[in-house]
Amino acid sequence: MHELFLIGNKILTTLEANGYKGYFVGGCVRDYHMRRSINDVDITTDALPDDIERIFERTIDVGKEHGTIIVLIEDTPFEVTTFRTESGYSDFRRPDQVAFTSRLNSDLERRDFTMNAMAMDDDFQIIDPYGGREDIGDRIIRTVGRAEERFNEDALRMLRAARFSSHLEFQVAPETERAMAEHARNLEHVAVERCVVELLKLYRGPGVKAAKALMVKTRLKDHLTFLENIGDEDFLDTEVGSLENEIALQMWRDPGLKRHLHELKLSNDMKKEIQNTTGLIEMLHSPATVREVAYSHETKILENASAIMASNTFNGLKEKRELIRSAIGLKPHLPISGIADIDLDGNMLMEFFNARGGRWIRKVFSAIELEILDGNLENDRKKIMEWVDAHVEYEAGDI
Ligand code: ATP
Ligand code: MG
Repeated sequence: MHELFLIGNKILTTLEANGYKGYFVGGCVRDYHMRRSINDVDITTDALPDDIERIFERTIDVGKEHGTIIVLIEDTPFEVTTFRTESGYSDFRRPDQVAFTSRLNSDLERRDFTMNAMAMDDDFQIIDPYGGREDIGDRIIRTVGRAEERFNEDALRMLRAARFSSHLEFQVAPETERAMAEHARNLEHVAVERCVVELLKLYRGPGVKAAKALMVKTRLKDHLTFLENIGDEDFLDTEVGSLENEIALQMWRDPGLKRHLHELKLSNDMKKEIQNTTGLIEMLHSPATVREVAYSHETKILENASAIMASNTFNGLKEKRELIRSAIGLKPHLPISGIADIDLDGNMLMEFFNARGGRWIRKVFSAIELEILDGNLENDRKKIMEWVDAHVEYEAGDI
């Protein structure tokens, strides 16, 4: 039994000792049943958020109004959520429309797919009212209840179906797929950042090719920012390795899209990575040398561009791949990886010329940088100062 379940079981037994019921629920039960690795374990209970806070010593309120409290056991965080329902059968209503219920089955009923609508008790017995295990056995993604209704309630579920088909390499049930095709345009009403979360996972799954084909077949693709601009053929042809790379490639093809990048509400790091990758592809189309390409980009960005080019069949990108592979090869052998690596500091220059600091220092550093990169100068303080002595004339206001 996975350690997370053993630690989490303390929450279930504590709930029970206080007169409540608690179960493991959702993805962790699915993954346990499939003998897949488990990253986090969610718990569902009939205890209300206030009860949960009262019973457990260490809790964090992360969304009380939605019923979610984090309980820390041995420093491991567990999301504990009160049974919720989306239909009108609730026992406990809240003004903000989140309805709590005392029935486990109602909580499972609101979940998206049969494989995600299973719970497990403290004896590790699985509760599976919607046939999740059977569908897992058949490798099928099927909505709990009528697909049209479930996609009407929350259109994101359609994209989640595609995401799970990539992640688990499962097929979507015919009636579920039909409903996806019928309701695809509703995806436009879903907050873009929710879609991005699912798309990032979709691109990381082993079944990304089939999932993309599904997105084309059901036309989900036509209702997603950035992806909507890609022709079906190109979308299916290109295997770029990640959503970030897909976006970078699109921004290179249509620079007008750069203005829209912020709409995806990505982290700053992710945005930078995408922009740098697009910038690198642009640079490859200018007369840049291998050395320049290697020096001006992090290995991650070089690898991104390489992945994009590995599978593209248009615009001669493939030829540029040689250049990028050489740059990746050269990168670890560059004498410096940035100006900060130069074995010299500005004070030494100021002392040497008996001059005050200013823009000239930056200029001298740039000249030294080029010499070192070209292999004409060793990155050694003494050698550098000899070179400065021989090559740099200081005249106030001149350099
Ligand atoms: P992963 O292992 O990739 O995180 P997961 O099944 O845990 O997969 P989450 O997005 O973390 O997926 O959601 C946790 C659970 O919450 C799901 O298993 C499902 O039961 C439920 N759920 C999540 N999103 C929805 C949704 N949009 N509609 C209905 N149920 C949902
Ligand atoms: Mg999860």
